[in-house]
Amino acid sequence: MDRKRRRPGHVREAILRLLQDAPRPLGALELEKLLHQQGETVPPNTVFRALRELIDRGTIRKVMVARGYAVGSGAERISLFCRECREVTEAAGANIFDALDDLAAASGFSVARHIVEVAGMCAACAGLTASQATGPLPAPPGVARASRPTPGTLPQTPE
Ligand SMILES: [Zn+2]
Repeated sequence: MDRKRRRPGHVREAILRLLQDAPRPLGALELEKLLHQQGETVPPNTVFRALRELIDRGTIRKVMVARGYAVGSGAERISLFCRECREVTEAAGANIFDALDDLAAASGFSVARHIVEVAGMCAACAGLTASQATGPLPAPPGVARASRPTPGTLPQTPE
């Protein structure tokens, strides 16, 4: 059986597979090109409609800062976007979302969901290991000197 017409969800499923396999968010035009390479010639409006449906289902999200789409709703997570390798990693941030709720409530605004994106450089691209990146920063020389008492001026313990 060789049907010319595909199932309605065919393009949506193909796009989802491409996004699942991609190490970074992909734009609509990139997705259209990749589909074409797989022998699927899909008009842009069909790609956009499929993306819209996947977003509405919470299966994918648009990563604004990356100008592309990634798997997952992104809700209640913080997306960390590396401008060098264009990868997106996610971080939890309950305290940040609580702060956003408080901020919104102060304006009488009720929050439906949080989407937080941060652009910058990942540890790999910065040439650091993750442990080095999260380690304490060296104190500025002035601060270190001020906190160290000069020898001979130590307060004497009363006897
Ligand atoms: Zn990177």
